[in-house]
Amino acid sequence: MDPVADSIEVIDPSTEQVITRLPAAGVEHADRAVARAKAAFATWRNVTAGDRATILRRVGVAVEEQAVSLAQLESRNVGKPISDALGEVGMVAATFAYYAGSPERLTGKTIPVPGGVNVTFKEPMGVVGLITPWNFPLAIASWGVAPALAAGNTVVLKPAQLTPLTAIELERIALEAGLPEGVFQVLAGPGSLVGERLVEHPDVAKIGFTGSTEVGKRISIRASETIKRVTLELGGKSANIVFADADLEQAAAAAPGAVFGNAGQDCCARSRILVERSAMDDFLGLFSANVAAMKVGDPMDKATEMGPLITAEHRSKVASFMDDDTTVVARGTAPDGPGFWFAPTVVTPNSPGARAVTEEIFGPIACVLPFDGEEEAISIANDTVYGLSGSIWTENGARALRVARALEAGTLSVNSNWSVRVATPYGGFKQSGIGRALGPDALDYYTELKNVYIATG
Ligand code: NAD
Repeated sequence: MDPVADSIEVIDPSTEQVITRLPAAGVEHADRAVARAKAAFATWRNVTAGDRATILRRVGVAVEEQAVSLAQLESRNVGKPISDALGEVGMVAATFAYYAGSPERLTGKTIPVPGGVNVTFKEPMGVVGLITPWNFPLAIASWGVAPALAAGNTVVLKPAQLTPLTAIELERIALEAGLPEGVFQVLAGPGSLVGERLVEHPDVAKIGFTGSTEVGKRISIRASETIKRVTLELGGKSANIVFADADLEQAAAAAPGAVFGNAGQDCCARSRILVERSAMDDFLGLFSANVAAMKVGDPMDKATEMGPLITAEHRSKVASFMDDDTTVVARGTAPDGPGFWFAPTVVTPNSPGARAVTEEIFGPIACVLPFDGEEEAISIANDTVYGLSGSIWTENGARALRVARALEAGTLSVNSNWSVRVATPYGGFKQSGIGRALGPDALDYYTELKNVYIATG
């Protein structure tokens, strides 16, 4: 959980320098924001669908116009490579553009019944509280803000204390784009105060939470006191499954990005690489060479592929996974300090219970495991409490589909390490979450279904 203080010191993790200090919001700020959001809901819900669409479209255009400065801010605050940050900001603009198309398509059904007809409506819920993590601050905020506003809700967003800057910029952009006061507010403050208050507040209808499974469980329990609607996008321990019949060069070229992207601080990180035993030596040789060649360093350099970790404390946690239960088989490079650097590292486990095999690492450590045949690959991949993501590498199309159907995970890719797209549903099975973000399905999680019977006599 976040520390509690009167102000938030925002740090550049690649230099350890303070970027800025912000006042920290507390419980009373959360109460005021919810009251404003509740008042704003009364008008926003009645703004015509066409006008809501126009404003959302303008937000998307403004994000696109300010993409470079937003990406630079994100890169500096999170320590992520500028090329990644630019891609994420592009996705934010696309997310607003996509959901700008939805207010006018939020249609219900007509259902003929004896004696009359039933009509259904997708109604907005009211005030939505969004609580987001520090790893993809602006992108994840947009995945909640855009569909929630499109459906006619108002939003109070609490970004992570470590990386609140681009969310604050998004609030400014939205106001300049014509979003009425109070419809979208950002409150930077600790989860234990602002986050908890949003979760317990009787006037908040729904919580959209993205973060750790540990905090997600607590939110789930607290939200039940007011029967709040909750969507949870939580942790993962995803598998990258490489069959011997795969294009090994392609699989080995993609594997570093699949686990070391965002310095491994990615809920979708494929941190378990399962390789069919007969292909292990070849794959490991190719993969290790690619890891050694990774460019780790200054996030502002366009050629950089991996930046630092978010804090010194987080780096210690990641380092703790390199224990007696693991053997290092390959390691890339990382600059000396300042900055919270950690070289991309490949390990093999010395025991099946190694923490690197069972726990979410959330850092640049990949654990490579052998398997024999399809059945064992599926069994190892599913042997986790999580079920977020994963990849399958094979040239056999029927096998790809068979394995994909058998995996207990919500967001998979075949012969690719990328499965998160604006137009497709994203989310997890098991303890990786409840509900889906993105795509058309996300709107169901920001609306209530109303059924009205009309007697026609
Ligand atoms: P976190 O759970 O520590 O914090 C997430 C947010 O919750 C922050 O804004 C934090 O201030 C707030 N919070 C903390 N305690 C709270 C409480 N008691 N009540 C309400 N809010 C509270 O997670 P993190 O360290 O910021 O992010 C890393 C975790 O997030 C990883 O486990 C990662 O897998 C997960 N994650 C999941 C997804 C996904 O889409 N599934 C995406 C990104 C990150």
